[in-house]
Amino acid sequence: MSSTPDTAATKPSHFLRQIIENDLAQKTHANRHWAGTPGDAAHQATGPLDPQPVRLRFPPEPNGYLHVGHAKSICLNFGLARDYGGVCHLRFDDTNPEKEDQEYVDAIKDTVQWLGFDWGPNLYQASNYFDFMHRAAVYLIEAGHAYVDEQSADQMRANRGDFNTPGTDSPFRARSVADNLARFAAMRQGELPDGAAVLRAKIDMASPNINLRDPAIYRIKHAEHHNTGNTWCIYPMYTFAHPIEDALENITHSICTLEFEDQRPFYDWLLARLTEGGLLASPPPRQYEFARLNLTYVVTSKRKLAQLVTEGHVQGWDDPRMPTLVGLRRRGYTPESLQLFCERIGVTKDYSWIDYSTLEGALRDDLDTKAARGMAVLDPIKLRITNWDETLGVTLGAGTLDPCSAPIHPHHAELGRREFLFGPELWIERGDYEEVPPKGYHRLYPGNNVRLKYGHVVTCTGAVKNEAGEVVEVLATLVPDTKSGTPGADAIKVKGVITWVSVADGVAAEVRLYDRLFSDAQPDASGKDFLSCLNPNSLKVIQAVVEPSLAKAPAGQSFQFERHGYFVADRLDHQAGRPTFNRAVGLKDSWAK
Ligand code: ATP
Ligand code: MG
Repeated sequence: MSSTPDTAATKPSHFLRQIIENDLAQKTHANRHWAGTPGDAAHQATGPLDPQPVRLRFPPEPNGYLHVGHAKSICLNFGLARDYGGVCHLRFDDTNPEKEDQEYVDAIKDTVQWLGFDWGPNLYQASNYFDFMHRAAVYLIEAGHAYVDEQSADQMRANRGDFNTPGTDSPFRARSVADNLARFAAMRQGELPDGAAVLRAKIDMASPNINLRDPAIYRIKHAEHHNTGNTWCIYPMYTFAHPIEDALENITHSICTLEFEDQRPFYDWLLARLTEGGLLASPPPRQYEFARLNLTYVVTSKRKLAQLVTEGHVQGWDDPRMPTLVGLRRRGYTPESLQLFCERIGVTKDYSWIDYSTLEGALRDDLDTKAARGMAVLDPIKLRITNWDETLGVTLGAGTLDPCSAPIHPHHAELGRREFLFGPELWIERGDYEEVPPKGYHRLYPGNNVRLKYGHVVTCTGAVKNEAGEVVEVLATLVPDTKSGTPGADAIKVKGVITWVSVADGVAAEVRLYDRLFSDAQPDASGKDFLSCLNPNSLKVIQAVVEPSLAKAPAGQSFQFERHGYFVADRLDHQAGRPTFNRAVGLKDSWAK
């Protein structure tokens, strides 16, 4: 891996880099000034923040596990902060008192760190800003920018109009400031039931952007919050809370996905009102949108991912077939492979589908350069060398085994070598023997010479069959003086080279052959039942035999099983006495048409 530090100059540019570079050149944020006074609610919300060239944030809601789409957002925000010498905040956007859980908070932190990013002291929780948000709402009422609406939900919906029809003013829109303050206080005191009233921004009921037709900013919800308990029975709406969170944290560029593009005018409206009122620093942060990641063969909806887990279609959030980052990690994905993937897919404003093979390609390219090699036999059948005693036995003594070795990595001699034994009984792949060879088949068949990789050349002499006529043992004789790496070893030309593990030191291992979870490229498409697209062959568990160096690996280490692909020693189940490997990805794209 390259050890050159990442800098903005070495990265391909995209529109967000251009915006940041332009802002740095113009010193857009350098003179951001604070109108409030130390000790006021805004200052208390985050504590003092030192000046930074850029301050970005990754703001997950702690209501589920992060998935591969979040990786795009994490790599983008933390990556830009790193490249421009700034910081990226990890902010739990927990303004909704619904299912938010410490389990998710912990998993999210762990995953962001595993991906290779560090938020330093900048860990925040949106619910800590509830006091300030409430004060901001009161300010908007006082300034004539908000009112309490007590229409029913149905009336409100009907009066909002639609794309073709302008909305109609609520009868409560013209209330006096005093009346609004009193009703908002009643909401806050718990005097009204859920849904009886909402606080709305007073903007324009005829706006062509429906999001500006007096959006709700506070609602009544008699619900306990995981951080603030029962302090509140009114909660800010996401669209109101999010810009305020950004502003309080002095965010320079608020980067989100394109679904929020229509919300940007409200983002700007709100922060303009609060800065002109002196509640927030000026200039406020600005929102920029990019296209979310859409990956074929994957669903990323939290609801659907939860359904896969609760209905037992997979074994948990970290099942190696899940597109969650905990799942991809267990599958054998490395932080570097995911960073590489995110770099390759780039950042644009255009919707597109990324083919799953791009993700797999990034993993292959990352592991190829660094994964240790090893031999494993996935579908073992025994190969017996019938002239062992006459050949090797002559020099080594009857029954003695022949030590062999191979480089740990073909291009990194400095990593050293792995040792294993060659002997009279070896495990080979069942598919490496054919009684009658098809055209172009160069592996074992009667009369053919084949090299056992890193070992000797053998001549196949036939096979032993059981009563049912199935091959139970392949027979061969060893060709003397052909050991790999010895002088003259290549005197005999062979066309076939096969992998093997000896019976003497091979270790039985459980290998889980994972494949894509869905067999349909767009299981999420409308009109489809995503569960009916599950790939019935997404997991096959087999009993394999592996060379000793693989069995001794620490859990979590990645390997290339020669000829078979990339595998990882399972993070949870792999143990010295019970080697367990997951197939991460094959050597080639087997799904390519
Ligand atoms: P929901 O809001 O439905 O619960 P979400 O996927 O938006 O789900 P959040 O926790 O709000 O989840 O997401 C945190 C951040 O990750 C947001 O800034 C969001 O834009 C970003 N994000 C989520 N999904 C993707 C995706 N597929 N591609 C890129 N960024 C994403
Ligand atoms: Mg979201």
